[in-house]
Amino acid sequence: MTQPTPIVDFVPARYGKAIPVSAGQTLTIISKEGSQVLDLWALGRDDPMEYMSMEHTRSKNSKVMLSVGDSYVSIRRRPMFTVVEDTSPGIHDTLLCACNSAIYEESGCTEYHRNCSDNFHEALAEIGVQFPFTPGPLNVFMNIPIEEDHTIRRLPPATKPGDYIKLRADMDLVAVISACPQDISVINGAEKTPRDVHYVVEG
Ligand SMILES: [Zn+2]
Repeated sequence: MTQPTPIVDFVPARYGKAIPVSAGQTLTIISKEGSQVLDLWALGRDDPMEYMSMEHTRSKNSKVMLSVGDSYVSIRRRPMFTVVEDTSPGIHDTLLCACNSAIYEESGCTEYHRNCSDNFHEALAEIGVQFPFTPGPLNVFMNIPIEEDHTIRRLPPATKPGDYIKLRADMDLVAVISACPQDISVINGAEKTPRDVHYVVEG
């Protein structure tokens, strides 16, 4: 039996995209320049209201950051994405919300600034899905260390060019990637320059 050709594509800097991934397929997300972070969501294809939940994932794994072999789970605590490979330092934030208009207003923006929250809804609208709110995303490659006094810091990614994480879909799902438009803090690297997010779907 021949394997289907892998889908090799990218999400343009500052924008979002909905990507169908079937059970057993893998989604590989590549940090080409080593500086870009992305917000990742997953919705069940049969029931979009079964979505990947960081709260349930932290509870299920008793960790705030997952490793190879661990699974990000849905609100029903069922595995949605399992980490099968990770060549990055393995730093992926599960704590912070998606950036939205309010964050950029707080930062002094007086005009509309693209943001991950709107990217999530825009990307879903393109495939005809409306979602009533913005779930907490998995912030892939985002470097948010927790200090001893329980405060958190926002640091540039610890990734190097070409690092990737490979996730296996455990059910038929729609993944949504937002190439984070943050260009005020150093979350996308010291250059504060949003980049494209490259990905491969295969299997
Ligand atoms: Zn963002």
